[in-house]
Amino acid sequence: MQRPSRRVSDQRDSNDRRALPDRRRDAHWSAATRFPGWTEQKVQFLTRYLFIVLGVVFFNFSGEFKPTWLTLPQLNAVFGIYFIINSLAFVHAHMHTDSTWRYRAAMWIDIALVSLCVLNDPYSIPPSLLVFIMVVLGNGMRYGMRLFGEALTGSFAGAMLALSLRNIGSADGLTPGVMFLNLFGGIILVYAYILMSRIEASRIELERQSSVDSLTGLMNRRALFDMADYLFERLAQGKNLVVMFADLDKFKAVNDTYGHAAGDDVLKEFAITLRDCMRGSDIAARFGGDEFVLLLPNTALDEARAVALRLQARTEQFAQQKQIDLSVSIGIGEAPTHGQDLAVLLEQVDQAMYRAKADGRNIAVIV
Ligand code: GH3
Ligand code: MG
Repeated sequence: MQRPSRRVSDQRDSNDRRALPDRRRDAHWSAATRFPGWTEQKVQFLTRYLFIVLGVVFFNFSGEFKPTWLTLPQLNAVFGIYFIINSLAFVHAHMHTDSTWRYRAAMWIDIALVSLCVLNDPYSIPPSLLVFIMVVLGNGMRYGMRLFGEALTGSFAGAMLALSLRNIGSADGLTPGVMFLNLFGGIILVYAYILMSRIEASRIELERQSSVDSLTGLMNRRALFDMADYLFERLAQGKNLVVMFADLDKFKAVNDTYGHAAGDDVLKEFAITLRDCMRGSDIAARFGGDEFVLLLPNTALDEARAVALRLQARTEQFAQQKQIDLSVSIGIGEAPTHGQDLAVLLEQVDQAMYRAKADGRNIAVIV
């Protein structure tokens, strides 16, 4: 056993911590939706402001504007409203970074604005049509495949609607130039979608691999901290989160007597036992070597102790079956009483576990 001080201070330096918010969100990636960090979202809001400026300049100073569906003041008013909506969403994003409904609403407003721009674009081959590509890529590449698909469909429908409306009453009809521009734009977007879905699939697989301990299939230390950050941030008033630190007793002797491969099998078996003793909402991770950490949300300390005793009983049972000398010492603590984050709590429960070792092993000690 190495001592506690090593664990908490060494494993996560300040740089590590700064990188956490994005990593934590990455841990909550699903195939469908992604939750980008504040910095990434900020870039998108700033890009929208840039497009407002470009749009206003385009319509007001290109010299070709002829009122068609909207007059110039009406169009400027639309840009003004969009500016206000973007600013409100910006503030909302600052306060609530993860918000699927805001991602979606902002994306549909983008599509509506670009459709309106295409509809009122004074040129026969409207440059504003290209902005749909920006809308699809800007929204789709940030928020995962579901919103990408939605942005793609919405933009295609918006472009078609705007182009059709432009041609109502127009003598030229739909020119081949516009048709080909739309066709090429559509192909680029479908191509981008296919490429993105491949990138996303590899990224999810990589994320999964980097979060899992390859021997036991439990979460690894990195994923544990990411998950703990997520849980601690959302720890509601009056709720608790139990942290348990389990270290196998005399595990080195198992390795020495039966070999490293047999030791690996014991670790795997212990991981299965851990899973069997937990509820679906609990988290188990291999912290390193023969050390395991459990997070039990909303669990009374008495209940946690019962889980620990069950784990010890199951481990003894397994040791008897295999005819090895194996047990587990456990330290138990809870947030917020014994600490406000995982690093502090780990220090506490590791010391409690150490006391369990000192008191003869195969014991569960509450901080
Ligand atoms: P204690 O009761 O004080 O915990 O004694 P211990 O023998 O369990 O000693 P300690 O926890 O300090 O050592 C853990 C051992 O686990 C040391 C190392 O050889 C072994 N170990 C670490 N990782 C692995 C692994 O992946 N596979 C195997 N087989 N053994 C490992
Ligand atoms: Mg040990």
